[in-house]
Amino acid sequence: MRDANFDAIVIGAGPGGATVASLLANDGKHILLIDKNASAGGKMTTFHKGGHTYEMFPLNLIPYAPSLFEKLAETVGKSDKVRNVAAKFPEDKVNILYHDRAGKVHELDSGNLSTFKSLKMSVGEIIRSVIAVIKMLTMSDKRLSKLEKISAFDYMNNLNIPEVTRVFVTASFGEGAFEMSSDMVPASHMIRAFRLGISKKHPTPRYYEGGVGGFFTTMVETVPEHGGKILWKTRVKSIDIEDGKAIGVTTENGEKYTAPLIISNAGIRQTVVKLVGEEYFPEEYAKRIKGLQSNLADVGWRFFTNRKVLDYSTYVYFPYNCLEPWSAFEVMKDGKKKPTSNYIYIGTKSVYPTISPEGKQVIYAVMSAHPDPEQDLTPYLNYIEEKLKMLFPKLYEDGVIEQKEVMGLREVSALGVDKIFPGQGGESYGIANSIGQSDGDRPTCDLPIPGLYCVGNDTEGFGVGTHRAVESGFITYEKIANTLHSVK
Ligand SMILES: Cc1cc2nc3c(=O)[nH]c(=O)nc-3n(C[C@H](O)[C@H](O)[C@H](O)COP(=O)(O)OP(=O)(O)OC[C@H]3O[C@@H](n4cnc5c(N)ncnc54)[C@H](O)[C@@H]3O)c2cc1C
Repeated sequence: MRDANFDAIVIGAGPGGATVASLLANDGKHILLIDKNASAGGKMTTFHKGGHTYEMFPLNLIPYAPSLFEKLAETVGKSDKVRNVAAKFPEDKVNILYHDRAGKVHELDSGNLSTFKSLKMSVGEIIRSVIAVIKMLTMSDKRLSKLEKISAFDYMNNLNIPEVTRVFVTASFGEGAFEMSSDMVPASHMIRAFRLGISKKHPTPRYYEGGVGGFFTTMVETVPEHGGKILWKTRVKSIDIEDGKAIGVTTENGEKYTAPLIISNAGIRQTVVKLVGEEYFPEEYAKRIKGLQSNLADVGWRFFTNRKVLDYSTYVYFPYNCLEPWSAFEVMKDGKKKPTSNYIYIGTKSVYPTISPEGKQVIYAVMSAHPDPEQDLTPYLNYIEEKLKMLFPKLYEDGVIEQKEVMGLREVSALGVDKIFPGQGGESYGIANSIGQSDGDRPTCDLPIPGLYCVGNDTEGFGVGTHRAVESGFITYEKIANTLHSVK
């Protein structure tokens, strides 16, 4: 019966599931890893087409290298199997394009005096911006914890700083880093993300040969190498509970597997409501989990070009009043407001060696949206193209675009966690990192059923999507490692 009995079963090989499965397998545990996809990475699964390596969605891997990704590869002895190709392009930079009230687009470079001249910033405004930045960089943990219940939007609004500084920090590290409107993200988290984003401790950008999904597919090879098993293209239908304990899983084709530890990477709401059943949980807990809010989605275009269009990996375009509250995203979702002044992320990984055929690029251009996958995406797509034509006319020269694809919202749940509630499914991370759902208010990885854990974006960890999920993998691993000792 060894084929059906394991020390632990991990449902999902997204960044969170892949991390915990690899770490446990590396300790010699007999692991079963099951994923509905054909490879690891979840929402960051890597695709290969026409010589390009790319993810369905754009990404920034913050913090830059070294990160917990490197720690994972090192711990499971696979550092020599993954190569950070971004390190081969050290001149890469993030290009900030600010569209001012008067209609002029400025390329911001805080180290370059001409930026301040072009923005017509007074000495007083420059000094106030510098003081605000220094304050954020040097703030004590105690002071930071006092900002857990204040929104990034309110915090920045109350500083006496010019519009460009306010919008740049709030849009990039409040909304952008957490994919959540800045009226919901805690100011403390925006400040921590800001520090990580510009930290000199993490100087090199990060992207891996074989992509981000490829990185996790390499990590989970640890499972079969230590005698465990991976079932790809297999969907778990239920987590089985007996005498109040998690004891195994049943797949959609009816196969049953048992283990004293079940670790779900299938989303906390999906795990509680769909895989286990809310009736097995304390009523208050189930109610709270069902009421958790999703984060925003990204919607936009993916272009395959036959020419180099972007010189660098990352461009962020933000117009002067681009900070939309959550309610504005709801109104846009209902078609009652069109995007007119939203920030757009434009990027490519093709500038790194081995990622695309010489001279060709895969370019992403996306904006934030409500996570409801059923909404009409046309207004967002039109808005993005209108701005791209202005910012990157080369993209629209004859014959440059070989193919373009919509980055929609339905693909997100197809690759990652399931859509189970109305208005949910397109969210790029999972549950939002918002006031009331962060810090001590965030669900923990140990669920109130013995033997049941949930790993990934939705539990514990901190930061930008994949980083949060991998950190959750480490935390979950540490919490259960001792329990497993007594099992074998
Ligand atoms: C548009 C977009 C942009 C993003 N940008 C960034 C970025 O710039 N930087 C960044 O770090 N992150 C970014 N992310 C977020 C990142 O992809 C997620 O935070 C991360 O993938 C979450 O990891 P996870 O392990 O929690 O879950 P997921 O990636 O959702 O993985 C869940 C896994 O569980 C599997 N699964 C689910 N249910 C079942 C089941 N019943 N049976 C079997 N298998 C199941 C899925 O197939 C999947 O492999 C972005 C995501 C999107 C969509």
